[in-house]
Order: sequence, then structure tokens, then C-alpha cells
Amino acid sequence: MQIEDQQRTKIVATIGPASDSYDNLLELVKVGVNVFRLNFSHGKHEDHLKVINRINYINEKYNLHIGILCDLQGPKLRVGQMEGDGLPIAQGDILTFTNEECIGTKDKIYMSYEKFAEDVQVGEKVLVDDGKIVLQVVETNKVDTVRLEVKHGGILSSRKGVNLPNTNITLPSMTEKDERDLEFILGQNIHWIALSFVRKAKDVKELIKKIRDKGHPAKVIAKIEKPEAIKNIKSIIKASNGIMVARGDLGIEVPMEKLPLIQKDIIKRCIQRARPVIVATQMMDSMITSPSPTRAEITDVANAVLDGADAVMLSGETSVGKHPLLVVKAMNKIIAEAEKFYNSPHTPKANEKSRTFLSDVICFNAGKTSDEIKAKAIIGMTSSGYTAFKVSSCRPKANIYIFSDQQYMLSILNLVWGVKCFYYDKFTSTDETITDVTEILKNAGEIKVGETIVNTGSMPLHQRYRTNMLKITTVE
Ligand code: PEP
Repeated sequence: MQIEDQQRTKIVATIGPASDSYDNLLELVKVGVNVFRLNFSHGKHEDHLKVINRINYINEKYNLHIGILCDLQGPKLRVGQMEGDGLPIAQGDILTFTNEECIGTKDKIYMSYEKFAEDVQVGEKVLVDDGKIVLQVVETNKVDTVRLEVKHGGILSSRKGVNLPNTNITLPSMTEKDERDLEFILGQNIHWIALSFVRKAKDVKELIKKIRDKGHPAKVIAKIEKPEAIKNIKSIIKASNGIMVARGDLGIEVPMEKLPLIQKDIIKRCIQRARPVIVATQMMDSMITSPSPTRAEITDVANAVLDGADAVMLSGETSVGKHPLLVVKAMNKIIAEAEKFYNSPHTPKANEKSRTFLSDVICFNAGKTSDEIKAKAIIGMTSSGYTAFKVSSCRPKANIYIFSDQQYMLSILNLVWGVKCFYYDKFTSTDETITDVTEILKNAGEIKVGETIVNTGSMPLHQRYRTNMLKITTVE
């Protein structure tokens, strides 16, 4: 199967009716998708299961390692069903929100947040429908009813999302729906689980514990979309396996002009901590209907690449859009061009106090040395994925080839900047392994005779220690 040139910055594509058939998934893989995202805000388990099975079948049939990212909805707030086609509301109107289920009218509107009246304060902002409707709290009885003044009106339609940027929300990080979705997800061969509306490191730690308790190897991505998460960003990054800059909700919850620098800051912090980071939402939004992106979208994707993001994500563009293949092809081209000019400003430094200090020194020096000697490739072995995350965080000029005997780990690593994954399960001796993996890459046309390569590994091989060896070789 012919796959389009793979770039270092990975592409995550959200699956939906425009892309969920076997043929569509396969075509998307051919044009450069590295990870598929299943959005659990939509769809039934039986539909997600079909998609998961199709992707895993593609992986098996074509010996690929396409990742599967399951995105939990989290405590997303919504208004309930509205009367008719929606309620026209105008500036100055007073609305009443209640936690009792009802059909929404001018008198009463249901909001899916039991403790809304208790948690909210007079004067706080309430944003509905991606911030198109702006309300302000004028009164709360602290039990079940909140009165709000319309600051910016529009048509308030059924089930629209609600954002409370100023409110200290006391909802648990996972809803009952998330728990049911998680139970289903943990029965599947998937690789990443994203949690929406993360507020603190504890939210992530609790999810990681649930996953480990079930013995599932999936890694966790914290979606950053709340001002509280920005405040706690350091500890959230530390607790998570990866981060998503979820600009859709984030752009509503923080002053919009702050978004670009928040994005840059999160990417920088993630690279320093060796956590893969995805830039998400509205990257190529106009291509939901149009066959080509806007100039601003082209620049947005290129800027994410130049910031050093591990991955850029497509949402509606591939899930419900008219041109899923064109959008991935366009994104791939923009990434390829921007990467020619990407120079990482990061020089990772191993922390002497860390348990992993010695292997960090090896991984970081693999990156540094490869740049210094202009090596063509860094070739690493991993079972925990650790070496791949760390070497990638150096953002070296050399290609990064990672070999593992853990299939699921290869699919996890398919999200990570620059990492190309290969299955390898012979562990006779370090020398033999280096010869083998060199041959595999030579046969795949990835490296040529005379080129310099840097190997990392663990010696003695059978002990499976952390990475403790660095070797420079000329390909023969
Ligand atoms: C976002 O808000 O940017 C996002 C990715 O979340 P979702 O698409 O799940 O609303």
C-alpha cells in the first residue's frame, strides 16, 4: 500500500459519518493520518466498536501502527430541549435556568448541572452556543433557580453547550456517561484516552488509576479548555501522558486574545516535560465545506508546526466535512513545508534528582549527538515507550526510528513527534539487534550505506533495564 510521505508533526483525524467506513478510513491512512479520534460526545458504542475494529484490521493487514484516541465528553454543560426551533432572546431579557428537566421557554430553561444555583455567583458570565449568546447572573436562590440577564442575544436552540468561565464548578471530573464510556473503551484495543474539561492533576490521576486497575495499557491525554487548567498547567502536564490544547472550549473560556500565547506556552512546557501535545480545533474549519483552506488556516497549521507541536488535529473537517481526504492532503503539505524551517529552540536537560537521570542523559545526548554529527537516524528500542518520548522531546534533525516488541506501544508512539515505529521481538544480543534493525531500515529504504546513525539501547539486553547505551555507527 502506498502511503503519502509521513511528516514529523503527526495528524489526528476525528471520525464521523464522513469518514467511518472501512474504505474511507483506509484512504485517510494513505494520505497521512497517524491517529484516529473517536469523539464520545457523539455516537453509540456499537458504532465506535465498528470503527475500532476497522482501524485495528487496517493495522494488522498492512502492518501499520495507526493510533486510536477515545475522547471522553467530561462534564460538558448543556441547556435542555427548547420549545419549537429555538427561543429568540434579545439583549436585556431576563431568563430563568433551573435544574429540573423541562422543555425550555421564555419562563424556564433546563440546564444539565445539578449544583448550578449553588456554585454560581451574581455577576458571573454564562456563555451559550460557543459564546454566541452571552448571559450574566443577576440572582441565584442557591438551590435550584438562577436568573440571568441577556447581554448578547440570538436564537437559543436545544442542547447547546454552556460555558461558565468564571464559576468554580464542583462537578466530578467524570460523569456517569464517561464512566459507562470508559468501561466500554477499556474492553477495546485502543491507545489513548482523552479527558475533557480537566481542572486539576487529580482529575487525570484518577482516570489513570481506573485504567491501570483494569490492566489496560492506554495512555491519558488531558484536554486543556478551562481557565482553572491553565492555572494548574504545570501539575497537569506532569500527571498526564499527553496534552491537547482544546481551543474550541478554551477560546470561549479565556479571553480570546490570550489563546495564541497560551498555545505556545503549553507546547513549550510539554516539550520540556517530554509529553506529546496536540493542537486542536478549527485548524482547517472552512474545509468542512470548501475544497481549500483559508490563508489564516494555512498559517495556523504552519505556526503549530513551528511551535513544535507533536500533532495537529482535525475535528468537523474529517468527521462531518465534505472533503476529508482533501483536508488531510492539504494539512500534510502545509506541515511538510513548515517543517523545512523548524528549528527547535529546546535543549532538554536531565534532572539530577530524577529517578531516570541516567537514561535521560543517554536519550538527550542521542538527540544532541545526532545533531552534532549530522546523523541520518536515531534508532531506539523501547518497551515502556520512555526512550521514544524522551528522544523525540529533543526534536532532533535526524529521523527517529523506534523498535518495540509491544504492538500497542507502537500505536501509542504514532502520536509522538518524529517517531516512526517498527515491530521487533528478537532479543538475542545487543550487537545482533543493532545489525537487525539497521538491516530492516536499509531494506525499507530509510537509511543508506555510508550514513551515520545513533543507536540507543539497554545492555545487557535480556535484563530490560532502562536505556543505558549510546552508540554511533556508519551504515555498512
Ligand atoms: C475543543 O473544545 O477544542 C475540543 C477538542 O473538544 P470537543 O471537540 O470535544 O468539544
